[in-house]
Amino acid sequence: MRIGLFGGTFNPVHIGHLRAALEVVEKFPLDECYLVPAATPPHKATGDMVDANIRYDMIRRAVTGQAGLKVSDIELKRPGPSYTVDTVRLFREKFSDTARLYLIVGLDAFLELDTWKSYRTLLNSVALIVMSRPERGLETSTERWQALNDFLCHGISKEYTGSEERSVFSHPQLMPIHVINVTMLDISSSKIRELIRSGCSVRYLLPAEVLDIVESRGLYV
Ligand code: ATP
Ligand code: MG
Repeated sequence: MRIGLFGGTFNPVHIGHLRAALEVVEKFPLDECYLVPAATPPHKATGDMVDANIRYDMIRRAVTGQAGLKVSDIELKRPGPSYTVDTVRLFREKFSDTARLYLIVGLDAFLELDTWKSYRTLLNSVALIVMSRPERGLETSTERWQALNDFLCHGISKEYTGSEERSVFSHPQLMPIHVINVTMLDISSSKIRELIRSGCSVRYLLPAEVLDIVESRGLYV
């Protein structure tokens, strides 16, 4: 059983997240991918942060009926900030030893990994899947591979060796880091919040079920 954990604030969840998660499930492949909304994200201001239970509910509605995609409330049940290293440990306890866990992160988030709490412990305890997509300055997959290689070898550990052919970075002690190219959808939750604030429609940027919740609760206005 191969299980993916895809964390974020999901404020709100949008088709960029969902499409990427689905592509990882199908391409890697994974049996299941859990979207894990953060309760109190350590990195974010809480100004327009919608209540965690509502963010959870939006994801639940978005993934209902889609094989392979699930939502987890594991970070909502814990008081205080949610650190990925703790979430991974809790998931380990929840599943049997035969389950293999993969932490899924976007390239942008991954390139800030050295600011995460106990990131070395994290790299030691769970395999990663980095979703690579074109970004400013990193348009081609070769440029992105090079950026990952520089970050890992110069910022984390010289002992990483990358195989572009197999799309994986290996390390003698730490867990492998897989890289998967996903479709670029230039959508972010902040852009959606901005559009709503300025009175524009966000239809088609998020699933209709999620838009229903956003509109009926008057979120982000
Ligand atoms: P915000 O604009 O508030 O930062 P966001 O859209 O970036 O929101 P997050 O909750 O910050 O969403 O991101 C959760 C995870 O989803 C991160 O790993 C991020 O890299 C990834 N992600 C965000 N947007 C996309 C997208 N359009 N396609 C694929 N992955 C994405
Ligand atoms: Mg983000």
